[in-house]
Amino acid sequence: MGESQSRHLLGIAGLERPAIQALLDRAAAMQRRPPEKLLAGRRVLVLFYEPSTRTRTSFEVAARRLGAETVSVTASASSIEKGESLLDTVYTLRAMAVDAIIMRHGESGAPFLVARHVDVPVINAGDGMHEHPTQALLDAFTILRHKGRIAGLNVAIVGDILHSRVARSNLWLLSRFGARVRLCGPPSLLPAEFAALGAGIECHHQLEPALDGADVVMVLRIQMERMREAFFPSEAEYVHYYSVTAERLRLARPDAIVMHPGPMIRGVEIGAEVADSPQSVIREQVENGVLIRMAVLEQLLAPAEAAEKSA
Ligand code: ASP
Repeated sequence: MGESQSRHLLGIAGLERPAIQALLDRAAAMQRRPPEKLLAGRRVLVLFYEPSTRTRTSFEVAARRLGAETVSVTASASSIEKGESLLDTVYTLRAMAVDAIIMRHGESGAPFLVARHVDVPVINAGDGMHEHPTQALLDAFTILRHKGRIAGLNVAIVGDILHSRVARSNLWLLSRFGARVRLCGPPSLLPAEFAALGAGIECHHQLEPALDGADVVMVLRIQMERMREAFFPSEAEYVHYYSVTAERLRLARPDAIVMHPGPMIRGVEIGAEVADSPQSVIREQVENGVLIRMAVLEQLLAPAEAAEKSA
């Protein structure tokens, strides 16, 4: 899995295409046939320094379905609040014989730092504005379920691109698999550097051309918690220009799917009628998240046993 990544899952940027494909294939196989409890007797630490509903629960469900025990630590209910350093916390918890660390942190790069100091796999469940690799994997899995391919698709990613780790991980993955990615948001939330990222990536400050003929519309939340200043004049103005409403969605292909990593703020980045429309695959993304996270945990914690079982 790239970098020191054969032992960890830190980001999509460090993953080669075959490693990504293997995880997608394994998740698909697990959907057809539930996996065996290959992680029985193993203990997984779920260490979250930022709030989460879907990702944390999804990792816990995935680990338990594979037979592992989970230990969850959240910042607000631990010594983290008392100012313990990240590495001290990790060393303390590692001493409780955990076999893997799944972590979310507000600082970009935090899981990379931890990975250098522990002898167990580290899985990045979101680091600051940087990466959210399992989200991109489950998004790719969901797109494949509906479209059968990624290459050649027009994928519009709309909203707060600047602060979004979901946008970054998806951008790496989708462009590596040959999609045309159209990023769209106000100039303050979609700086010009993104246009320089490479072939197949377009930047739009208007929603209409970004949606025109799109196969996939991925909507992102405005990450208020990462903003120390105002990035747009008012919520009403944002809604006016960038909210994905039913009327605007008609610009996309009639069979376009609508995605959102959650949490979604209805009436702001997405209209309620779009969130609940037959084109929305938002709930399916959540279901697929468990499959992808099982595939990741199995790959990192029991690769040999998994290969033997699937032989
Ligand atoms: N749940 C996603 C994340 O943790 C998206 C979001 O919070 O808006 O990055």
